[in-house]
Amino acid sequence: MSATIIDGKASAARLRAALAEEVAEFTAEHGTPPGLATILIGDDPASAVYVGGKQKACAEVGIKGFDHRPAGDASREEVLALIDELNADPAVSGILCQLPVPDHLDGVELTNRIDAGKDVDGLTIASAGRLALGMDGLRSCTPAGVMVLLEEQGVELQGAECVVLGRSNLFGKPMAQLLLGANATVTMCHSRTRDLGEVCRRADVLIAAVGVPHLVKGDWIKPGAVVIDVGMNRLESGLTGDVDFEAAKDVASAITPVPGGVGPMTIALLLRNTLQAARAQRRATFPS
Ligand code: NAP
Repeated sequence: MSATIIDGKASAARLRAALAEEVAEFTAEHGTPPGLATILIGDDPASAVYVGGKQKACAEVGIKGFDHRPAGDASREEVLALIDELNADPAVSGILCQLPVPDHLDGVELTNRIDAGKDVDGLTIASAGRLALGMDGLRSCTPAGVMVLLEEQGVELQGAECVVLGRSNLFGKPMAQLLLGANATVTMCHSRTRDLGEVCRRADVLIAAVGVPHLVKGDWIKPGAVVIDVGMNRLESGLTGDVDFEAAKDVASAITPVPGGVGPMTIALLLRNTLQAARAQRRATFPS
């Protein structure tokens, strides 16, 4: 079997084109575009590249960007005051605080200061709680992007055995919750899981987010399974995933490559969340 290669770049481009139209409609209806405020504290070059990419993506679909860059020695009080100001600003639909923050600040505290209705990264305690309780809300962008890819592939999740490798708050936990919400049977694995290969072989849908290059071997994959590789590992040879792609593509029915699979979806979902938040604020409801 040779797997379908899931083209995340093309999916993200389609989503962004559709969002540009929806943003134009929103702007025409309300006389003002949705707005995304990014907060980058200090001058970490990698974070600056990520934030620059998010701001550029906003501009491309017509979302207004607010690019805040407090100095690396900004005090806790200054940053909290900035977040409060953005929470209260009706022109700002969504807020994200780029992590990691400098050592003297607490990224968890700053993130949780963001109003849950503007939490477009879906990382606050309120957003995680709403997801766990099956309530409307803003979802973490990368797992939400995986759900879009699975839907586009026509993957039947109801009753499916889904195995998620990795239990981070950023990805693994919200991914498992989204799958559960879609009526899948979900198993979560982590560094203490016994017989990892054996557990993975049960999966109709196998999702790897561990940050260990090529941890998932070809013979860990059930023939015909759908494999989603979230891993982004920078090696001398380039960017690579958590799955041994060459071996896996002969066993799986569909698989995401790295790069060009899950990665491009994350920013597209950030834009979708910003529009979703803006709409909900206009309706004075919670994002749904
Ligand atoms: P993380 O916070 O470091 O979590 C890694 C998880 O993998 C932990 O739950 C850990 O288990 C588990 N793990 C580590 N080694 C393992 C092993 N040998 N066997 C089984 N489980 C193992 O990482 P993350 O933030 O979730 O990210 C994971 C990967 O996804 C990274 O490569 C990251 O770059 C990538 N990522 C990509 C995107 C994107 O495409 N936009 C977004 C998010 C993440 P314990 O909990 O037991 O330590």
